[in-house]
Amino acid sequence: MASNKRDYYEVLGIAKNASADEIKRAYRKLAKKYHPDMNKAADAEEKFKEVQSAYEVLSDSKKRQTYDQFGHSGMEGAGGFQSADFGGFEDIFGSFFGGGGGFGGFNQRRPQTGPMRGQDRFMRMQVDFMDAIFGKTESINLTVDEQCSKCNGSGANSPSDVVTCHTCNGQGQVLTQQNTPFGIIQNQTVCPTCHGSGEEIKVKCTKCHGEGYETKRVKVDVKIPAGINTGQQLRVEGKGERGQRGGPNGDLYLEIIVSNHKYFVRDGKNIMLEIPISAVNATLGVSIDVPTVHGDVELKIPAGTQSGSRLRLRSKGVKDLRGGTMGDQIVQVKVLVDDKMSKDEKKLYEELQKLESKGKNSIYDQFRKSL
Ligand SMILES: [Zn+2]
Ligand SMILES: [Zn+2]
Repeated sequence: MASNKRDYYEVLGIAKNASADEIKRAYRKLAKKYHPDMNKAADAEEKFKEVQSAYEVLSDSKKRQTYDQFGHSGMEGAGGFQSADFGGFEDIFGSFFGGGGGFGGFNQRRPQTGPMRGQDRFMRMQVDFMDAIFGKTESINLTVDEQCSKCNGSGANSPSDVVTCHTCNGQGQVLTQQNTPFGIIQNQTVCPTCHGSGEEIKVKCTKCHGEGYETKRVKVDVKIPAGINTGQQLRVEGKGERGQRGGPNGDLYLEIIVSNHKYFVRDGKNIMLEIPISAVNATLGVSIDVPTVHGDVELKIPAGTQSGSRLRLRSKGVKDLRGGTMGDQIVQVKVLVDDKMSKDEKKLYEELQKLESKGKNSIYDQFRKSL
């Protein structure tokens, strides 16, 4: 699946941190180079499409962010090159070559008339700390405008109720003339009767009253991938704002907020945990069972461990979303002094203190001498 796709940055020959301008420049250069009208090589069309797909994603900051986080797998179902939200070939080449022709008939800018894709929608989604680590499928309830199930979005009561618009004869646009001091100015505008569809509806759908959409309360299963973190986005296809003139819905983007845990702290794919140990164990070393999100793991704390030292439990962190190595758990040791000692313990400490005062350079003495 995703693995045979080339990296989009590689396709455009740009750096991962390329600016929007650099992306556009690289795209224009390559689109010209591989355009099937100009390049007769057998693989030109394929290369052209590859360049289109790369540009479609990288030129859109939201899609680019998703791609940077999840790679091609984040783009699955992204629909590839869609003329609906992309303006189509005419628009691309119109803007490339100044719209002045010279490239063969791409010069007429027409008002947007066909079906139009809806806007994307953005929401926040709180994800439990552990669910973000291990992944989960979460059901969410949404209010979405979907194509009317009775008329399939046409807005007509029956297919025969859709007729050619009488105002524009199905052209979707009309010519208007304006008398001005400079002469007659002709304008091409979207047909006021059919709003560009070229069709009129004789009898409106009884369910959606001709809207073509109905507002529904739907339950959507959102797959939260293991390893997701705060600030990352999940894309739910087709659950954005409704399209126009029968166009598809936009997408829904869910910005993830991962809840805090009482003890564990996420740091990218690593997990931090602070553990308290006694001065005696820090001095002499000890083996302890440390909780991790994957269960308890034995950790050897070496003799002479200072407070604040960090020890690493390899691969006890979070899965890497982009397929890299598993994260680690970083254990930060905090040495705590016991203020509720038993009589016997206190006695032993007193012995230690006596030893320390007998000529041996104490830690404090060393500090004084160094000043
Ligand atoms: Zn019309
Ligand atoms: Zn309907």
